[in-house]
Amino acid sequence: MTVDILAIGAHPDDVELGMAGSLLVFAAQGRQTAVVDLTQGEMASRGRPDVRAREASEAAKVLRLASRENLNLPDGGVSDEPTNRLAVVGALRKYRPRLVFTHHPEDNSGHPDHGACSRLVQHAVYLSGLARVDTGQERFRPEAVIFFNLPRRLFPSFVVDTSEVYQEGRRALAAYGSQLHDLGSAEPQTYLSHPDFLGRLESTHRYYGNLIGTQYGEAFWCERPVRLADPTRHFARGL
Ligand SMILES: [Zn+2]
Repeated sequence: MTVDILAIGAHPDDVELGMAGSLLVFAAQGRQTAVVDLTQGEMASRGRPDVRAREASEAAKVLRLASRENLNLPDGGVSDEPTNRLAVVGALRKYRPRLVFTHHPEDNSGHPDHGACSRLVQHAVYLSGLARVDTGQERFRPEAVIFFNLPRRLFPSFVVDTSEVYQEGRRALAAYGSQLHDLGSAEPQTYLSHPDFLGRLESTHRYYGNLIGTQYGEAFWCERPVRLADPTRHFARGL
């Protein structure tokens, strides 16, 4: 199976937090999308890996992903090292995506796995294009790596208008009931399960939407400038 877009996150729910709305926008445009989660989230303070796996597959349905898989790297111990690079190269050569999305190297959550995921993916994207890196698959290099979860001081390279799909994106995130606020849960509170978390997330999406003159938006950053064929299609009136 080949896809147009592959999103790679450290833990099941990271891709949803970073770009659920954009994946829905891409799917609505007829793009094939897939997600690779590096770990099962087994070190999380809330939920268990089997519950998290069920939640991830429920979210995959909401996002209309063509595929979702887990590389089973150790949660809390993601690192840019040879065995892990080969695992990611295997996924890149399997899905052959035009674009790869992953955490920004200075991901705003502060979880060390997120920055490590970013470095690992960037390293693997390069190695995947080398014929002598042997995984038994044909070599392949995506056209670009694009980052989500930007550090707050960084201005985005582009923002995707997610206004039309905002509620659907929230449904994908709501699939992760074990991680979010639940009055009946006796498990330890985390950043995600704090009652204010979803409100803060909405403020972020409104902020980025405001930058492009829409209700909601998701922000991305990439090393290279984005090539626009027709700039008149990409700017809103009154900005
Ligand atoms: Zn995470």
